[in-house]
Order: sequence, then structure tokens, then C-alpha cells
Amino acid sequence: MWFIPSQDELDSQGFRPVDITYITSARITTTKTMPGEFDFIHWLRAQTPTHSRVVIGPGDDCAAIRPPTRELLVTTDMLMDGTDFHLAEVGPRRVGRKAMSANLSDIAAMAGTPIGAVVSVALPRAGGQTLAEGLYLGLRDIADAFGVPIVGGDTNSWSGPLVISVTVLGEATERGPVRRSGAKPGDWLFVTGPLGGSILGHHLDFTPRVSEALALHAAIELHAMIDISDGLAADLNHICDESRCGAVLVAETIPISPAAVELSRTSGKSPLQHALGDGEDFELVFAVSSADGEKLLRAAPVAGLTKIGECVAQGLWIEESGLRKPLEPTGWVHELK
Ligand SMILES: [Mg+2]
Repeated sequence: MWFIPSQDELDSQGFRPVDITYITSARITTTKTMPGEFDFIHWLRAQTPTHSRVVIGPGDDCAAIRPPTRELLVTTDMLMDGTDFHLAEVGPRRVGRKAMSANLSDIAAMAGTPIGAVVSVALPRAGGQTLAEGLYLGLRDIADAFGVPIVGGDTNSWSGPLVISVTVLGEATERGPVRRSGAKPGDWLFVTGPLGGSILGHHLDFTPRVSEALALHAAIELHAMIDISDGLAADLNHICDESRCGAVLVAETIPISPAAVELSRTSGKSPLQHALGDGEDFELVFAVSSADGEKLLRAAPVAGLTKIGECVAQGLWIEESGLRKPLEPTGWVHELK
């Protein structure tokens, strides 16, 4: 599975660039024709701790993990240098952390438990083993914090920029996965933390809300939930679309991050606009009955919860100083500064 050829190594073996596409099997790693790659596999296997769920880890053609007893959740997310991060500015370790965290955030959005991950990487040729190791250490920083084994992957090099794709497997709880589609008019809407301005750093360094989602799922009935990747307005609109209902946000209650305030000084937008429209906050937005909402206000099972509005029959609205006006579901555009 894990495989790192440099172009020089490929050239010395008589491979043309096109051959890269099919030299991906773990079988190659045992031929010792590519010392750099063999060293990386050796290094990587030495780094991999044992895990009760993992029967076969990195180093064979497939990994084998013990199956969960409830629904198996699967999510994948691809990040590209120049679009989702600037490698030269942030370094490989933070990229690795973001790649793992973004996937765990999707497991959190279903109120699931992550159980394993695989990683595919297209490395720029100049990066070499240092880049691969940096990425892996970043992935492991987050994976270890959530008890998630990285059971395999595939690493190729090419003439383009860094691309990393992580796939995470998860397990639903006995209450089942929480979908986007269960919100009802009259439900209360909550968010797990402050929003906006993630481009200043939060989009790289955030804690996926896995444990918060599980604690909420155990305490009350989550009708619908999503993690904020596109922006509060856009992601709330996804809940409304799937649930066939509307929502009204109360502007004064939306928690605004210090980064949104800082960004507003130069962006020409208000902090509220950043909180509504910026993406990659990776907080959770969820809908619950008003009775469960009252419970959360009385004794929240997790810190940082804020009630930000309610579900209505139709439309997407924001109420500011008691005045209700339409809210555009404009989310984050994939563009770095
Ligand atoms: Mg998501």
C-alpha cells in the first residue's frame, strides 16, 4: 500500500512517468529496488501502534479490521495545495492534521465513532520523504487523539502540487446515524462554537466535534445535524433542503469568533457576515425539539452550545433587531487570500 517513488528512482529503473499509475501495490515494496520507498515503509510500520480493532495493518495488499456491530459510516475528503491550504506557508504537519480532522468532523456530524482511516497522497516530486513523514505525523496527531488507527494508504509522486485524500470509517451509535433530514418546524437550532474568520488559522487547527456529538446524541434526540464546512447559512440551508422546512436565525445570538472580528477590520464585511458566510468552522449545527432545547439550556452535556434560531415552515431568514429578512444561503467560496 504505502509507496514513495522519486522520479530519479523511477528513471534509474527504466520507468517512464506513465508507469507511476500502476506501480502502487505493496508487492513492489518488498523488491528492494527502491531504497527510499522501502525505508519509508519500514519507518511507517515501525510508527504504527497495534490496535484491538486492526487485524492487518499497513504493509499488506489490504488492511483488515474487525467490523462494527452497527451501521458502518464512510466518508472521504480530498485537499489540494493552493486550494485548501498553502503547503509552503503551513508545512506538511498542519496539512496532515487538517486532512484527518475534516474527515472526523463528518463522522461527528452523523454522531458516529471513528474506527479507522486510509490515506492517499500525491506528492510533488521535490517533496520526498520529509514531506511524506511530515504529513503522516500530522495525520497521526489527530488520529491518535481520537483513537483512530491509520490502517493503510497509497503514496505516489508526480509533477503537480500536493494532493491528500483521507477516508475515514466510523460506526453509528445504537441510536443510529443523525441525518440532515429530520428537522421539523418549531425545532430549536444550536451551534457548538463561535463562527467566522477561519481563514486566519482555524481552518487548519480545529478540534472535530466527535465527543460533543456523541454526548449530545446520548443526552437528547438530535433531529438533524451537519458540520459547518461551507458556512453557517449554506449548511443550515442543506438541513432545510433535506428536512423540507425553513429556518430563522436570530442575529444577536450567533456566536462570533474573534477571528471574524479581526478579519472584518480589513475585509469590508461585518463580523456577522463572516460568521454567516465563511466556511470551515467545523462546528456542528443541529436541530432538536423545543423540550430538548430547554433541557440543553438548563444543563448542557457539552460546553460552548448556543441557541441561534428555530426551524419554521419554509424559507431561510435572519432576524436582526426584531426585523425578519431573507438570508441568502451563500457559503464559502473555495478561495484563499
Ligand atoms: Mg460535512
